[in-house]
Amino acid sequence: MKLVWLTDLHFKSSGKQHRHDARLRLTAAINYVNQHHADAAFCVISGDIADVPTEENYADVAARLQALRMPFLPLTGNHDAREAFAAHLPLPEGRQPEFIQYAISQNGARIVCLDTLAVGDDAGSLCNARLGWLDDQFTQDSTTPTLVFLHHPPMELGHPTLDPSRLVQGDALLARLTAQPCVKQIFFGHVHMNADGVVNGLPYAALKAVIFQAMPASPAWNWDSFNPPEEAPEVGVIRVENGRVSLKREAFCDAADGVDPA
Ligand SMILES: [Zn+2]
Repeated sequence: MKLVWLTDLHFKSSGKQHRHDARLRLTAAINYVNQHHADAAFCVISGDIADVPTEENYADVAARLQALRMPFLPLTGNHDAREAFAAHLPLPEGRQPEFIQYAISQNGARIVCLDTLAVGDDAGSLCNARLGWLDDQFTQDSTTPTLVFLHHPPMELGHPTLDPSRLVQGDALLARLTAQPCVKQIFFGHVHMNADGVVNGLPYAALKAVIFQAMPASPAWNWDSFNPPEEAPEVGVIRVENGRVSLKREAFCDAADGVDPA
């Protein structure tokens, strides 16, 4: 199975964020994916679909995402709100009723999408109800090669500005995932940068945001002093075959596209 992966659209129907136009960035991503990866089974979008979770923003982004030539699988991020999200974005059948968590199996692979939204908090949460749903997925199927997507990193990445807003129950999640040999890799957004590594034997990957990228850890910065670096956004291209996983990242537009001059 082939997937494309986008994260952190931070979509707004009007206005800019740090000089970046979310509408132009999304259009560039969709055009690139359709031109080069129309054969992907799904496009996974790992959270922060909206920058501000209004009905207008979700209706607009949902309409624009219909241009993708493959079904898309949206996850919640800390900027999202479940009710408006579920009202406007298409979601697979059989999701957990109270949360936007679901699993899809196709062509010998399974995609698990988690909902780490904690209302009113930038950090992520997986309560016992959500972890219990995850346990049920492994009770039902413990053999199909599985990729797990979530918005928040479940561990520190060595970035003092970003690490405090990671997933609060990261250790509990990693304990569950590393106990399941069928879980091949985890994928998350939120940090607006590429990162790769192995945690407790489990490979992980983070991806650059569609909207803008985070600054390096040093020199120290905070969101008041934040000024996005001139880095092109990227799409992840994931292949999983016979339990083998590959990830390739491709810039889908230039760093200056959709950005006002400073
Ligand atoms: Zn986020």
